[in-house]
Amino acid sequence: MSGFTVGLTGGIGSGKTVASDWFSTQGIDIIDADVIARQVVNKGQPALLKIADTFGQQALQNDGTLNRAYLREIIFNDPNAKKQLEQITHPIIRNEIIQQLFQSHSPYNILVSPLLFETDQHQLTQRTLLIDTSKALQQQRASQRDQQSIEKIKLIISAQMSRQDKQQRADDIVLNTGAIEDLYHQLFLLHQRYLTFATR
Ligand code: ADP
Repeated sequence: MSGFTVGLTGGIGSGKTVASDWFSTQGIDIIDADVIARQVVNKGQPALLKIADTFGQQALQNDGTLNRAYLREIIFNDPNAKKQLEQITHPIIRNEIIQQLFQSHSPYNILVSPLLFETDQHQLTQRTLLIDTSKALQQQRASQRDQQSIEKIKLIISAQMSRQDKQQRADDIVLNTGAIEDLYHQLFLLHQRYLTFATR
């Protein structure tokens, strides 16, 4: 087990994936909360069965997989339903994160999570790193990547914790407003620091 975990977060399009891919090339294990969140609702998984119990069989498609569109609709219109869904999935996601952190043996490891602070997953880490960029760049990069309108990305950004709140909470902040090489350089410097923290 690595003794030191860095929690990496940032809003949509901030550069979390680019950053975690870079750490991965340095031999650092990446535990991805988004990937885990998708896996726990795979066909036949306990979380999916609970969702069907709670929200009815309409929450499943004919082939037994999650009916994401249906759930999204329900949650969008009913904050209580959103809470119910989170009460089912969040503890299961957290347990799986803990399992994967235990299995990691790199000098330190990274938990990447868009909801690091919102879900208290930062409690599982020793240090937090925010990948930060301007709203305009977030919109431009995310809409290009996802082939979505700027308006759609704006809506997603407004539903996320504000940039300012994340800046206040994070131990380290990398500003990703320049070229990718500039981002890599800042990550390299942090990587050196994390290696020393991890061996302390
Ligand atoms: P996140 O995972 O935080 O949503 P990504 O890492 O996927 O964000 O980055 C969003 C998009 O912006 C991707 O297409 C990525 O290649 C691009 N991108 C990220 N950082 C930069 C940068 N410094 N310069 C140019 N493009 C970037």
